[in-house]
Amino acid sequence: METRAQLLAPCGLDCGVCELYLSRDDKQLMSALISKGISEEVLPCEGCRAIEGKCPVLGGTCATYKCANTKGVVFCSECSGFPCMKLAPAADRADVLPHNIKLYNLCVVQKHGVEALIKKSSEIKQTYYRGRMLVGEGPKVESLH
Ligand code: SF4
Ligand code: SF4
Repeated sequence: METRAQLLAPCGLDCGVCELYLSRDDKQLMSALISKGISEEVLPCEGCRAIEGKCPVLGGTCATYKCANTKGVVFCSECSGFPCMKLAPAADRADVLPHNIKLYNLCVVQKHGVEALIKKSSEIKQTYYRGRMLVGEGPKVESLH
């Protein structure tokens, strides 16, 4: 996989749009993250695959990363057990953590490939956090349409 594609984690999250990764090119963002209590030592984050699943947000090795490694899959969507409960949507902290994006991202990878996810991932993230939910139509961000 090329460099940008390596930023796509096995679980489907795109580290390439994570603030901890993006802080490499944005000193203001880095200061804001440090003021929120994120240790300067882990910034900027290199992305899940580069740090072998030791996501600083977790404070340990990610169980999904370990599992995907053990199963020998690049993405969870390739696993015979997909979709398992490690990827299940959860209301807990859904407004601040991106866990509910994983399955959608993995569907994009499975159906259209990694390049399609790379192209769409920023829009998916913005739509998730900023979209106004229109029942039956999905979330909408006016500035994106
Ligand atoms: S490993 Fe975690 S903190 Fe690092 S870029 Fe990926 S999601 Fe962000
Ligand atoms: S069982 Fe399969 S789908 Fe679930 S976390 Fe492990 S690799 Fe991913």
